[in-house]
Amino acid sequence: MTNTTNTAVTSNDPAQITEASVDRAIQLIAKGAEGSTCATDLARNPWEFDGGPAGYGPGSSMGDMIPTHSPRQGVLPTQYKTVTAAQLHERIRAAKATLGDRVVILGHFYQRDEVVQHADFVGDSFQLATAAKNRPNAEAIVFCGVHFMAETADILSTPEQAVILPNLAAGCSMADMADESSVNECWEQLAQIYGPLEMPDDSGRVPVIPVTYMNSSAALKSFVGEHGGIVCTSSNARTVLEWAFERGQRVLFFPDQHLGRNTAKAMGVPPEQMPMWNPRATLGGNTTDDLLNARVILWHGFCSVHKRFTVDQIAQARAQHAGVQVIVHPECPMPVVDAADAAGSTDFIVKTIQAAPAGSTFAIGTEINLVQRLAAEHPEHTIFCLDPVICPCSTMYRIHPGYLAWVLEELVAGRVVNQISVAPDVAAHARIALERMLTAKPPTGATVGEAAHTPTPKIGA
Ligand code: SF4
Repeated sequence: MTNTTNTAVTSNDPAQITEASVDRAIQLIAKGAEGSTCATDLARNPWEFDGGPAGYGPGSSMGDMIPTHSPRQGVLPTQYKTVTAAQLHERIRAAKATLGDRVVILGHFYQRDEVVQHADFVGDSFQLATAAKNRPNAEAIVFCGVHFMAETADILSTPEQAVILPNLAAGCSMADMADESSVNECWEQLAQIYGPLEMPDDSGRVPVIPVTYMNSSAALKSFVGEHGGIVCTSSNARTVLEWAFERGQRVLFFPDQHLGRNTAKAMGVPPEQMPMWNPRATLGGNTTDDLLNARVILWHGFCSVHKRFTVDQIAQARAQHAGVQVIVHPECPMPVVDAADAAGSTDFIVKTIQAAPAGSTFAIGTEINLVQRLAAEHPEHTIFCLDPVICPCSTMYRIHPGYLAWVLEELVAGRVVNQISVAPDVAAHARIALERMLTAKPPTGATVGEAAHTPTPKIGA
């Protein structure tokens, strides 16, 4: 299987990739084609950034810092860097065929097309983690996504299954903005303000319920499981907050301030009752009164991809495209969500487009790989990204076919590399928080999982 051709891998082989490929567009721009990208480094191969000291590499989270404890990818064997894109794809297909049902490949919506074409399932983080359950015979789950997703898949899969992240440097800069020790420190400071945090008031509600977004480490899912809290996704955040308000006087929401703020605002919580918690400041930078008056305490975290979308971009889309429907992800800042026609999870965006009458026009505020793919899959509509600059999630972008070929061929050889394992005690508490989410009931009586597939205008699908 080893190919010694000394041709640098370039994924811009037009015969191997679709017209919609973001990577292809970036490579063409680097060669002088029209268009712009947020980082010229995007045209380079991701292994040039593995082991890098501080940033996440090219893309829209390149300005965010990598925590020192984050995993680093080792050196990818040379043979995967020096073959053509066509050869890599052939090796992936051959390894997959050899492994058969022993392996399942999961691909997140934000992965590059060159990877998605090899996935058995494509979806959002929670859909993929649960999809693995449908393949109990698979000995290995290759998760083409980012670190916290692989951790969730490990928590939800059987102990016999190995979850593999093809490039260990594929973290999530948002998830990394809330670490276990900072959240513990916050919890201790809140206890100084509110008193014993497990003590209910006359209505049976404790002072604060911790809620973590799916985009967080297993350690934080475990923290909320241990402290009476719950996990949410962008599809079910409203239902989860309702669950939390039934049990607590207020919520500590991390790591994404925007999902927390947009969801709580849609439920009628005024912005002045949503103070931000800055983990580097005493009391998160708040006064005691701010915290006593709070309904939702928002962690100072954000997604660098969704932070790029602006109200001006929406105004421009409306000026240039009569009748355009603007749909954004709830990780976008509140003014952007307010100016859009609808906001919802990736699943909501996909299903809204699928259900629209032919000839519709959509401006989408989410990661460019998904938007470009939707545009290619739905030629009956006009679909474009709100941000005219091509700027993929830099960490998702680190899963390149070279890493996928490597982990698959190692499996063929009987070796598991890049396994993501959550410690049993951490997994046990995290599973409790995930199970609370699955059993939480929205007002309609549907389960959270059902609600995740119900398109609704604005936040709170
Ligand atoms: S798009 Fe944002 S939240 Fe998703 S993996 Fe990338 S940085 Fe994290």
